[in-house]
Amino acid sequence: MNIFKDSKILASSGVFLTFACAGFAASSGSPFYGDPPDKNHPWAVHDQNRPQPKIVTPGTFSTPEQAGKPPADARVLFDGTDLAKWESTKEGNPPAKWLVKDGYMEVTATGDIRTTEKFGDCQLHVEWAPPGEVKGDSQGRGNSGIFLMGLVEVQVLDSYNNLTYADGHAASVYGVNPPLANALRPPGTFQVYDIVFRRPIYKNNQLVDPGYVTVFVNGVLAQDHTPLEGPTGHMGRSRSRPFPEKGPLVLQDHGNPTRFRNIWYRELPPRAIEGGTDGMLTEEATTAKRQQTAAAIRLDAASLKNPSNPMPEMLRWMESLVYEKDEAVAQKVEKMAAAYLEGVIALPADKIGSKRDEVRHLSSVFKYLIRFKILPAEFAPAAATEELIKKQGWDKRRP
Ligand code: MG
Repeated sequence: MNIFKDSKILASSGVFLTFACAGFAASSGSPFYGDPPDKNHPWAVHDQNRPQPKIVTPGTFSTPEQAGKPPADARVLFDGTDLAKWESTKEGNPPAKWLVKDGYMEVTATGDIRTTEKFGDCQLHVEWAPPGEVKGDSQGRGNSGIFLMGLVEVQVLDSYNNLTYADGHAASVYGVNPPLANALRPPGTFQVYDIVFRRPIYKNNQLVDPGYVTVFVNGVLAQDHTPLEGPTGHMGRSRSRPFPEKGPLVLQDHGNPTRFRNIWYRELPPRAIEGGTDGMLTEEATTAKRQQTAAAIRLDAASLKNPSNPMPEMLRWMESLVYEKDEAVAQKVEKMAAAYLEGVIALPADKIGSKRDEVRHLSSVFKYLIRFKILPAEFAPAAATEELIKKQGWDKRRP
């Protein structure tokens, strides 16, 4: 059991509450707390230096009657007013000619359209409605399609009471993988697709990540991180091949007057394999990130120099060692700690008690660094600190 797991952090004020507790390395407010970085993790567990998540003001959910609002950082591709961000896929890419009315666009017999903007990995939101008047069956009923990067079709089809081949239903990865569930609303009603798309990644012509697509239909999971097998197509087996970095979003004209509204996406951060700096990384990327973090901390440590209060600077130098071992820094810490302890020991009897908590904290930091082999077990100031604590009776509970 971790007794610190409920510790509160006053993050907003930048002040950390610390809980001194004999026998434990340090409190949750300390950088010397959770397991340190290792060869594939550039961050410690509960690392204070790990970047905070980006703040995004969320939007609102849609109802069949009313489109919701996109989150604040979404790139809006269609807000119901015009097709300024769309063009025809026909030669020369003339302006898109689909009908725009009452907050939606509707397929007219003018061919596929695509976004002028190109993008790759994304969270994509699309709402669409099959025609209210049911005509045709199977693939002939309310057919359209959402082509990610213009290459991978997430099928749009009026699959409500409409049998067709399984890998051609609404929310199938067309010709590759049927949806896990058919969660469609009746014809004429707006449906909501929320898609997470990761394109395939090749390095030196070798596939290193097939790419994936996840699809929710009206909040129901339809594709669960389905691996891509390449561009999708009709009748032909998909075959893996390198994708460009970015591509347009294409909407299909399959001859049915399907409607679309509220289309937006959010770009996704790079995966570790393409230079992302969080999560589980390669040894090489982890080392680079750890070095970078250590360098930033050392720059800060140097700025904290204060002979009358050396502790903040000393702790910062030690913190840097968690990310990157450095003999010169360890020696600097050894010297600083020795001088610090000397100063404490030289204090008159009525003043030395004021250093109790500081020295105990220093002791817990040494224990942490020694436990994780960041400093050697025989690190001299650690033993001297223990000696001082014992001598002053600071290892005992206060009366
Ligand atoms: Mg289609």
